[in-house]
Amino acid sequence: MPGLYLHVPFCRKACHYCDFHFSTQQSYRLRMVQAMVQEMGLRKAELKSPVLTSVYFGGGTPSLLSEQELVVLWQGILAHFHIAENAEITLELNPEDATLEKLNFYKNLGINRLSIGVQSFRQEDLTFMNRAHNTAQAQHALDLIVKVGFPAFTLDLMYGLPNLSREAWKENLRKAFAYQPPHFSAYCLHLEEKTVWHNWIAQGKMSPPLVENALAHWDILQDMATAQGYENYEISNFAKHGQYARHNTAYWQAEPYLGIGAAAHSFDGQVRRMNPSNNHTYMLAIESGKTVYQEEALVLHERYNEYVLIALRTMWGFSLAHIATHFGLTFKNHAQQKMQTFLDNQNMLALPTGHFALTASGKKIADYISTELFYLP
Ligand code: SF4
Repeated sequence: MPGLYLHVPFCRKACHYCDFHFSTQQSYRLRMVQAMVQEMGLRKAELKSPVLTSVYFGGGTPSLLSEQELVVLWQGILAHFHIAENAEITLELNPEDATLEKLNFYKNLGINRLSIGVQSFRQEDLTFMNRAHNTAQAQHALDLIVKVGFPAFTLDLMYGLPNLSREAWKENLRKAFAYQPPHFSAYCLHLEEKTVWHNWIAQGKMSPPLVENALAHWDILQDMATAQGYENYEISNFAKHGQYARHNTAYWQAEPYLGIGAAAHSFDGQVRRMNPSNNHTYMLAIESGKTVYQEEALVLHERYNEYVLIALRTMWGFSLAHIATHFGLTFKNHAQQKMQTFLDNQNMLALPTGHFALTASGKKIADYISTELFYLP
């Protein structure tokens, strides 16, 4: 059964590392959520089933929405889809928005999972990132989530930062584990073009992050997360057994989902669709009753490459049988031949399921291994 993603394209301020689509001009938030409901009506038939197993409010900053705006979106979802019993319903919450009233409102509405954008528990990191919250707000948000007894939550952390020492990274992890999150994500700093940090480095105003620092952080992360009983089920994601993010896992397993809102992506099982990363272009088209996405039809070898890339990032790995069935014997033979080096070097191992996944050493060079397995005609 499919998932629904809602992109709320507003933020208080621009974080210095972020290349997601958002606007800091928020005067038309209500108009935007109304357009998003309209888009649900225009596009719901793209999903073969109207029964949703996951709903994900992402962004941007969905916790910026007022109660009224969120209710408009929620009622739109209920008008156009059915939410399965036990569906995972996640909302991304920025720490500065967390209040007891707001968390109770989310819980009563039906949201059963919060994703908290902590990033770091050190003020100097948050200031350097240009985050809108401070360390006290990050801890307060997590305290409230525990107090309210939110059914599930996850938090985001970032490592590989230029000024984050190894000891400081350990301390960040210790602070996160103190809340016993069932799930957390740890992202290595990746410098995206058109971000402030990318420009600062190009202008010599900031030192580029060191690869050896990121690798040392990665080793610390693996050791400390394993000691706490987390499974590294996707390269950037860690969960207690079985508490995997269902929305994201469905995406990694190429399940269909509908993405609503400016810059949202969708996949119906065959075709990928992308909405424009421009709020006004998006709203004007939807308000005139027209969809506004571009389609991306991947050819066979691109679909194989995408499968390998995504599957190798997960603990479930990739399957030669799946490759043979979905892409043909040429691709299966190609993968089998290319993967042998990595099996010999113990960067990859065979699982009892018949799949092949990366070992701890393989995860450090995951991008390289994927590239080696790619099929380039
Ligand atoms: S709050 Fe999130 S989406 Fe908004 S600028 Fe910061 S990282 Fe990007």
